[in-house]
Amino acid sequence: MDAPPHVLILPFPAQGHVKPMLTLAELLCHAGLHVTFINTDHNHHNLRRSSSAPRPHRLRFASIPGVHRPNITDLFFSVMDNFKPKFRDLVVSMGGPPPTCIIADGIMAVGAVEVGEERGIPVICFRTQSACSTWTYLHLTKLIEDGEIPFSGETMDLPITSIPGLENLFRRRDLPSICRIGDLQNPIFQFFVTQTSAMTRASALILHTFQNLEAAIIAKLGAIFPTIYPIGPLHALLKAQITDHPSPSDSGSLIPQDRSCLTWLDSQPSRSVVYVSFGSLAKLTRGQFLEFLYGLVNSGKPFLWVVRSDLVLEEDRVDETPEELMVATRERGCLVDWAPQEEVLAHWAVGGFLTHSGWNSTVESILAGVPMICWPQIADQQVNSRCASELWRIGVDMKDTCDRSTVEKMVRDLMEDKREEIMKSTAEISRMARDSVEKGGSSHSALEKLIEDIKSMKFGGHVSVSDK
Ligand code: UDP
Repeated sequence: MDAPPHVLILPFPAQGHVKPMLTLAELLCHAGLHVTFINTDHNHHNLRRSSSAPRPHRLRFASIPGVHRPNITDLFFSVMDNFKPKFRDLVVSMGGPPPTCIIADGIMAVGAVEVGEERGIPVICFRTQSACSTWTYLHLTKLIEDGEIPFSGETMDLPITSIPGLENLFRRRDLPSICRIGDLQNPIFQFFVTQTSAMTRASALILHTFQNLEAAIIAKLGAIFPTIYPIGPLHALLKAQITDHPSPSDSGSLIPQDRSCLTWLDSQPSRSVVYVSFGSLAKLTRGQFLEFLYGLVNSGKPFLWVVRSDLVLEEDRVDETPEELMVATRERGCLVDWAPQEEVLAHWAVGGFLTHSGWNSTVESILAGVPMICWPQIADQQVNSRCASELWRIGVDMKDTCDRSTVEKMVRDLMEDKREEIMKSTAEISRMARDSVEKGGSSHSALEKLIEDIKSMKFGGHVSVSDK
């Protein structure tokens, strides 16, 4: 009998990438495939510390040492410098028949595609973001050729016209944050140009989106990628397909979740709470932190805010929160280090999400039917917030401002003044997301096709690395 297919899954080593790729790993194992999930040592340790959920027996972990860096910019440099030879060594050291295929993060494509080509292993890229932002990153070179980037900081509202299908959507300020780098030779800008270009050499593309949300842009991507699997929202597919999963919501978390906030939510009125989280990487100055806190307090709404220990910039961490804010926060606020976000968003007391527009957070909010206030900082977040507010109409965008009166107004708009209008599209898109993961739904079918396609690939190497 042939050995079952064996897939190597290779995420970029950050929370927003590890989580959806680990969820995909679990789904593939559930379908009978063997998976080796390649982590950094650092993330492997954090995953074990944060989630006690037993892993599927077909899932193995392997790790690449020495890639981790505490700061995201340094992490990009480390991936550029260290990753490819270490990944090649790992694949060689695994011995046995070659893996059936590699599913590599779209921003790890350079090393993955080259090692795959050298060793004859098919590579599928998983860009853990929306079709709209994937399409936008694919146009970085065209944006330069057309003179749309670089630009100066004073003209951020000028429209961007050279991305086909998105001509009337973006202003300069809505492009990925790397487009704000004035120097096009900047290594981080070049990192994205090269990784995106290498991604087009993959045999197929996986996207964490669903067909009905982005059909037109997925169709355009079809001109570059012969096969595309839109399989989002992955956390909903996981719950739909593995109904006895012991702990679906923390299984990809690199930080321990504080569940006490769910009890606090139980004591709040229905749809009254603003949930606030800026994800795993965003940083605030002390001034920004205080403006957000004043805005939330002045809105009069109860709020649950994820204040990571490193949320406020280190040099700004002085404890001088005004007494009036402390009192108001104790009255109607709840602060936690890290929350069980999927469960928070699904809680009946939550009525709105003040988010940094990370793509996982956006997809989770869409599924839960919770409208958003978007305050993007880096990467694709600028694109996501624009799509949320202007394309899908499921939120309001306050990018590049965060004074207390704007925060207060945005909260009032979302929770009261514009709520009826925003909730119509939010409920409709949430229904489409839920339908997509049901049997016969587009994401469910795309995952089935991915599994069938992997099973029909030429190699059938069995897993041979040791279980960590
Ligand atoms: N998350 C969480 N608890 C929190 C905040 C975030 O579990 O308190 C999870 C969230 O559910 C999401 C991920 O962390 O899946 C953050 O990913 P996203 O793409 O939104 O942002 P990033 O961290 O990459 O900026």
